[in-house]
Amino acid sequence: MANTPYPQSYYAASANEVPPRPVLQGEVETDVCVIGAGYTGLSSALFLLENGFRVTVLEAAKVGFGASGRNGGQIVNSYSRDIDVIERSVGPQQAQLLGQMAFEGGRIIRERVAKYQIQCDLKDGGVFAALNSKHMGHLESQKRLWERYGHTQLELLDEHRIREVVACDNYVGGLLDMSGGHIHPLNLALGEAAAVESLGGTIYEQSAAVRIERGANPVVHTAEGRVRAKFIIVAGNAYLGNLVPELAAKSMPCGTQVITTAPLGDEVAKTLLPQDYCVEDCNYLLDYYRLTSDKRLIFGGGVVYGARDPANIEAIIRPKMLKAFPQLKNVKIDYAWTGNFLLTLSRLPQVGRLGDNIYYSQGCSGHGVTYTHLAGKVLAEALRGQAERFDAFADLPHYPFPGGQMLRTPFAALGAWYYGLRDKFGM
Ligand SMILES: Cc1cc2nc3c(=O)[nH]c(=O)nc-3n(C[C@H](O)[C@H](O)[C@H](O)COP(=O)(O)OP(=O)(O)OC[C@H]3O[C@@H](n4cnc5c(N)ncnc54)[C@H](O)[C@@H]3O)c2cc1C
Repeated sequence: MANTPYPQSYYAASANEVPPRPVLQGEVETDVCVIGAGYTGLSSALFLLENGFRVTVLEAAKVGFGASGRNGGQIVNSYSRDIDVIERSVGPQQAQLLGQMAFEGGRIIRERVAKYQIQCDLKDGGVFAALNSKHMGHLESQKRLWERYGHTQLELLDEHRIREVVACDNYVGGLLDMSGGHIHPLNLALGEAAAVESLGGTIYEQSAAVRIERGANPVVHTAEGRVRAKFIIVAGNAYLGNLVPELAAKSMPCGTQVITTAPLGDEVAKTLLPQDYCVEDCNYLLDYYRLTSDKRLIFGGGVVYGARDPANIEAIIRPKMLKAFPQLKNVKIDYAWTGNFLLTLSRLPQVGRLGDNIYYSQGCSGHGVTYTHLAGKVLAEALRGQAERFDAFADLPHYPFPGGQMLRTPFAALGAWYYGLRDKFGM
């Protein structure tokens, strides 16, 4: 029997204690079988349970094993492509609906944390940092755009003001979003899983779905058991493999890497990020960082197209960290890990139905802590027969990557190289 542990991350090392969960054996019957216990699966399960559905979650490894337990922990509003891009590619009514939902995921996280008393080090405040005047112009339009959709917790930071929140000389300004913020991502997932169980949901770990028998009464098979359900939600994201071949063509798993320093101590930590906000820069291939509750710096960046695991993560990410904070040159790195997110060509989420009873949401393209929480709500609404908001996502156009499954990785890497050059020269 497979027993897949968490990767050796800071999050796994500082995870809250949880009881062991069973492996699925034999047959169970439920209303909804959710495949994947990341935020998408857990958020769906919670909303469904709160609405009276019986829910069984199958997780191939452990709760939060995927991106949800490895990410930068940054609560970032909107989507990987912003609402202005959506406005240009869909009709006004659909754009309006999607724009109204762009700030809901962060609220859902805060409601979940409060309602189920989840211990996940939630902190308010996220900064988008501008490296040049083009970035700053972009942030000014982003503020106007988000305000048009009712977001009022934004403050533009000039060159002087950004120094008060980030001790990094590289920035010309920024945008502070007080409804952004950060969390210990694995502990958020573990807390949500406990909430699922407190409402009568069942989560099986080490129980990968290996086959879906489709039809009026679908069955999800694992190595040692099966789940008969009225509905299936596919929430395996970048770790799904080829379980649902229709989904694989229009999305591509990509890796991104994170390092964590040794504890810096209160004094040093305060000099770096005095208000304890999280930060991401405005590059296409962006860097993101924040402090942990025990005052380490978590720093992430870079993308590996096709999700190969790099041999030496510290060698890739440490130079980026030192570029932002040269004062950390003698600080030891305690943890380094990689995680996979799922990229779509449009960088917008891939959402829809297969037949009448299989639903999916995936592919938020590296920017999914908030969206996945919203996705759970929208999926649950659709299963209850209120699909207007679900359909606003499902109707977003998606295209296969150029080159098909064979050549999509080098083509995407080429695209990223081009954008990396633009970042480098501030274009
Ligand atoms: C390193 C990293 C840093 C990131 N940083 C940020 C950030 O700071 N802010 C932000 O907004 N976004 C960030 N993201 C993106 C964000 O983490 C993801 O968008 C989000 O967590 C995706 O959640 P998910 O539930 O859809 O997928 P996942 O969390 O990947 O969960 C999928 C789960 O499904 C399981 N699974 C797969 N196949 C099967 C199967 N056949 N049977 C059963 N289970 C299966 C997997 O084991 C996994 O646990 C980051 C991503 C990575 C990788």
